[in-house]
Amino acid sequence: MTIIGKKVSMFRQLGSFIRGRIPGQLIIQLTDHCNASCPQCGMRRSSSFRRSTLSLDDGRKIIDHAAASGVSALSLTGGEPFLLQRELITLIKHAGAAGIPYIRTGTNGFMFMDHNRPGFLGRVAELADALAATTLHNFWISVDSSLAEVHERMRGLPGVIRGIEKALPIFHERGIYPSANLGITRNVCPPRHDSNGLSRPVDGDDYRAGFRNFFARLIDMGFTIANACYPMSIAEVSGESLAAVYEATADDDLVRFTAEETRVILNALRETIPEYRSRIRIFSPLSSLRALERQHSGQGDNCQPCRGGSDFFFIDAASGDTYPCGYRGNDNLGKFWNLDLKKSPLSPSCRQCDWECFRDPSELLGPFADLFSRPVTAICDVLADPAATLLKLSDLRYYLACDLFNGRLAPDFRKLASSAG
Ligand code: SF4
Ligand code: SF4
Repeated sequence: MTIIGKKVSMFRQLGSFIRGRIPGQLIIQLTDHCNASCPQCGMRRSSSFRRSTLSLDDGRKIIDHAAASGVSALSLTGGEPFLLQRELITLIKHAGAAGIPYIRTGTNGFMFMDHNRPGFLGRVAELADALAATTLHNFWISVDSSLAEVHERMRGLPGVIRGIEKALPIFHERGIYPSANLGITRNVCPPRHDSNGLSRPVDGDDYRAGFRNFFARLIDMGFTIANACYPMSIAEVSGESLAAVYEATADDDLVRFTAEETRVILNALRETIPEYRSRIRIFSPLSSLRALERQHSGQGDNCQPCRGGSDFFFIDAASGDTYPCGYRGNDNLGKFWNLDLKKSPLSPSCRQCDWECFRDPSELLGPFADLFSRPVTAICDVLADPAATLLKLSDLRYYLACDLFNGRLAPDFRKLASSAG
């Protein structure tokens, strides 16, 4: 994007707050085909359901409407979007040309298997060159555990961790700094045993140790950005009212947590992140983790309502229709290009799940939009919980030190260290 384009986009984002909105985000599920075997996900290759892919024409039409409506952030997801690499890169280029500034996509990393086969480094270089020729802002790679064997067994992708380690310098040479995406499951902690060798329930200390191992391993591998996907125990949190739009949910015990277990995990993550923030750019905001912990303790009113359906939207590959998020399948909003995004299709009120893609930015940025649209409420919220406001300001300072997690820039460790506390 040109300098003028960047300035226009910045003013549009500031304008969102003045109108009581936060910068828009759209997640397009390009496909629900997948070649991995993750037990925590219904899209794994062994699942039997009718698979779909969004057409390129619909993808372009959706992106054009998003750009014209001032949407700032676009994620292209799957399934495994790199199974359709040509179409994926076409849409990334289309979104960049349309002026969307924050474009993200990611992979389960299948292309980094077979790292000992001839031509591996050349194939990675080709992929890195192709992505470097776009305006992609973030490229994420899933990593589920600090232990390679655990990650590779879960994903069904043998050898992929060593392949990622070999690939990262090739991306860095081309100015692409991939982020590691942790989907939190019970496998974050290695199995725990008591002095008699019997397995015992894990607790907050175990999760803290698991997260420490995880961040330390990412740094060793060469990652410079990390993000955590919070546990999604929809049934525990919300009862009857949610229905997943797509097949991303699973009822495997690995990802089924009670509200109290979720609170313990989020607390462990919040307490561990500050130890690593100066060494790796960690996206998960402490203020959002604190708010979600409080929600799981029964203090939900302190959380910002989620912007899913008001400023954030999800489009699924099967129907090409729009939903408030990936979990509100009962709220089909129709074709994206028919939505008038100047008005919020729904008002923000939902707190039914912990989908970090939507909950984190809602928590972090919601109060700034409220300052313009509901100033009395916003000021009362600050006075009721000043610690939450201070934590948000500290998160924002860290985000700025991370150059807003620009995956096209190397980390500035001096800036990280000065804002990590
Ligand atoms: S989590 Fe991702 S990689 Fe794993 S099965 Fe689901 S879509 Fe595929
Ligand atoms: S909290 Fe947000 S992401 Fe979760 S169900 Fe509600 S609108 Fe969707």
